[in-house]
Amino acid sequence: MTDGYPDDLALFVAGSWVAGGDRATRPVLNPASGAVLAPLPLAGPADLDAAVTGAVATFPAWRATPPLERSAVLRGAAALLRERARAVATAATLEQGKVRAEMDAEVRLAADILDWYAEEGRRAYGRVLGPQAGTRRSVVHEPVGVVAAFAPWNFPVVNPVRKIAPALAAGCTVVVKPAEEAPASALAVARALHDAGLPAGTLSVVFGEPAEVSARWLAEPAVRKVSFTGSVAVGKHLMRLAAVTMKRTTMELGGHAPVIVLPDADIDVAAAYSVGAKFFNAGQACVSPTRFLVHRDVYDRFVDAFVDRARILVLDDGLAEKVDMGPLAHARRPAAMEGFVADAVAAGARALAGGRAVDRPGFFWEPTVLVDVPTSARVRNEEPFGPIAVINRVDDLDAAIAEANRLPFGLAAYAFTDSAAAIRRIAGEVEAGMLGVNTYSIATPDAPFGGVKESGHGSEEGIEGMAGHLVTKAIHEA
Ligand code: NAD
Repeated sequence: MTDGYPDDLALFVAGSWVAGGDRATRPVLNPASGAVLAPLPLAGPADLDAAVTGAVATFPAWRATPPLERSAVLRGAAALLRERARAVATAATLEQGKVRAEMDAEVRLAADILDWYAEEGRRAYGRVLGPQAGTRRSVVHEPVGVVAAFAPWNFPVVNPVRKIAPALAAGCTVVVKPAEEAPASALAVARALHDAGLPAGTLSVVFGEPAEVSARWLAEPAVRKVSFTGSVAVGKHLMRLAAVTMKRTTMELGGHAPVIVLPDADIDVAAAYSVGAKFFNAGQACVSPTRFLVHRDVYDRFVDAFVDRARILVLDDGLAEKVDMGPLAHARRPAAMEGFVADAVAAGARALAGGRAVDRPGFFWEPTVLVDVPTSARVRNEEPFGPIAVINRVDDLDAAIAEANRLPFGLAAYAFTDSAAAIRRIAGEVEAGMLGVNTYSIATPDAPFGGVKESGHGSEEGIEGMAGHLVTKAIHEA
C-alpha cells in the first residue's frame, strides 16, 4: 500500500465498481521508483459486453434528459473534482510521474472542461429553414449514440475528461478505456460523475488488453463513434475497425511540432519559454515542441540560452519539494529515448545536454538537447514523445516552412517572431491544426484541439468537440 494511492482499483461497469473474481490483474507502477502501487483488475469479455449493453440501454433515457439536467451533472462533477483536487493530483502523480504543480493544473483544467461542456451542452440548437412551397423545414442535431473512447497515460485526468464531457453533454453514452499505466486518475473522474448523479450505465470505465478491448467494442454495430488519442499506427488500425460499421471517428494522433525562431524575436524569452514547454510533462505531449528551426543569425544565442537552462533543470520524483521534471511514465519510454539519441549521434548529431538515462530507480531520462541533427536521423522524422529537443539552423523563413511541412504530421506548430509579415506567412502556410505565435499555451476548453494530415481529424474541446458527437437530421414537413 502506498500513502495517497487507492488500494481498491476497480472497473466501473454500468454503474458498479467491480474487481476480483477470475479477472486477470496487472501491477500499476510508480515511475519515480519502479515500485508497485496496486494491482489493477482487467476486464474480461463479460465486462466489456456489460459496459456496451449498459450504454446501449441507457442511451434513449440520457438523450431524452433535458440538457439543463445533463448540465447539472457535469457541473456537479467539476465541483467534486475541485474539492478532491489534492487527493486526485497526488494519486495521479504517483502513477504517471509528472511534477505535482503540473498535475494540480491538469486537475483544474479537467474541472474547467467539465464546466465548459456543461454550458455548451445547453446550446446544441438546430435551425429553421426558409419557406419552400408550403413545406416546413428544420435541421436538428442529435447525439450520435454510444461512444467508445480510448485515452492515453500522458494527461491521465484531462484525456478521459476531453472524451467524456462533450459526449455526455451532447446526450451520448460512453464506454472508455483509459491507460492501464495510470488508472486511478480516470477512476477519480468516473467517481466524480457518479457522485454527481450520472445515471448508472451512461458511463463505463474499464481497463484491459487494449487490442482486445478495441476489437470487441468496435465490432459492436451499436457503438456509433470512436474517439482515440494515441499513436498514428494505432489510430489507423482503429479507423480500419471503425470502417466495417461506418462509425464516426475523432483521431487525435501524434505530432512532431516545429518551432520557427526568427531574428526579430526576443531570443532569451523564446529560449526560456521553449525549455519550459519542451520539458513540461517530460516531453510526453503530442503538442510538445520538438524540431526547433532557428534562423542562422540567432542560432548560437538561442542554443546557448536553451542549453544553459536545460542543464540546470532538477529531475526528481514529481512529488518532491523542488523539482522541474519527473520521470518518464513507463518502462518502455527510456528505452525509446536511448534508441533516438544513439541513432542521432551515429548520424552526426551532437548532444549538448543530457542524452542518458539517470542512474537511479524509476524511469528517469535527462533533459536532452541535440544539435546539428541530420534530416535522416529518426528523431527528425518520428515523434520522440519524450524530453528531447532537436535544434537545427535554417537560412530563412522559406527553409523553415519547408522543413515544418516536410513530415506527414500536422498537429501543433509554433513560431517566435515580431514580424507581422512573417506571422501572416506562417499562419497561412504551415500545415498544422494548432499554431502558437510567441506562446506555447494552446490547450484551453474553448479552443479546438486537433490535427491535420496523419495527426488525425476532428477536434476535441471547443464547439467542434461537441459537434463531433452530434449528427444532423434535416426534417421536411409538407
Ligand atoms: P502504445 O501505442 O502502446 O499506447 C499508446 C496508447 O494507445 C495507450 O493508451 C494504449 O492503451 C493505447 N492502445 C495501444 N494499442 C491499442 C489498441 N489496439 N486499441 C486501443 N488502444 C490501444 O504506446 P506507448 O508506448 O504507451 O506510447 C508511445 C507512443 O504513443 C508515443 O510515441 C506517442 O506517439 C503515442 N502517444 C500519443 C499520445 C498523444 O497524446 N497523442 C499519448 C500517449 C502516447
